[in-house]
Amino acid sequence: MFSSSSKFPIIGISASICTIDTGSLLGRERVFIGQDYIKAIIQAGGIPIVLPLIESEDSICRQVDLIDGLMLSGGYDVDPHFYGEEPHHLLEATYRERDLCETVLVRAAAQKKIPILGICRGLQLINVAFGGSLYQDLTCIDKDLLQHRQKTNLHEGAHTVDLEKGTILEKIYNQESIRTNSLHHQSIKKLAEGFKINAKSRDGIIEGIEKMDQSFILGLQWHPELMFDADAQTRTLFRAFIDACQTRVINDK
Ligand code: MN
Repeated sequence: MFSSSSKFPIIGISASICTIDTGSLLGRERVFIGQDYIKAIIQAGGIPIVLPLIESEDSICRQVDLIDGLMLSGGYDVDPHFYGEEPHHLLEATYRERDLCETVLVRAAAQKKIPILGICRGLQLINVAFGGSLYQDLTCIDKDLLQHRQKTNLHEGAHTVDLEKGTILEKIYNQESIRTNSLHHQSIKKLAEGFKINAKSRDGIIEGIEKMDQSFILGLQWHPELMFDADAQTRTLFRAFIDACQTRVINDK
């Protein structure tokens, strides 16, 4: 009675680590993942599992064997050494072990043609893992930019994002432009080889990328997991991700 014939796709969500900063557990480390990511996958019909941060490459590859889709969550800045730069004075906290773990995760998943959805830091991590680079802070861009760290509720769109015609993302939204939330202080500088831009804000900041080979490897600079409740279009996005994972399940088994 406890076996399941369900073929709903299993989505691995990369986790982070937080340190308890009060009480009797002060200083203890905990696996950390925003509950919004979990809810977004469940409402779209996927089965979420949390992938804790581990070191062994072999073990990370075995984790990838278990999943039908990979979602990279937001968080720390990527260590700029991974794209050949020294730390700028406006770089924020980094976590090298997480960068290493997620780099193995995305490369292994891409090799197995497992769909990937990278959110915020997740987009940046994908770009760096495939050879691209980042502006360590948006002020490194010599230009008057829009507000990308919004002060309003994160379930509300803040700035406009124009979608590139003919991309997977444009097909999902079926719109020329959308409004997204925005909670980032970095952005893509050099785009990774094999990727194309699918979304930009009006000040020219890259807000989304996808792999050119039509495999579902998608990175978004905003946080759709905070918008799906209030926004039907965002639910379509998660549904499309789960559908891509589902297709793989059907073709595989
Ligand atoms: Mn933005």
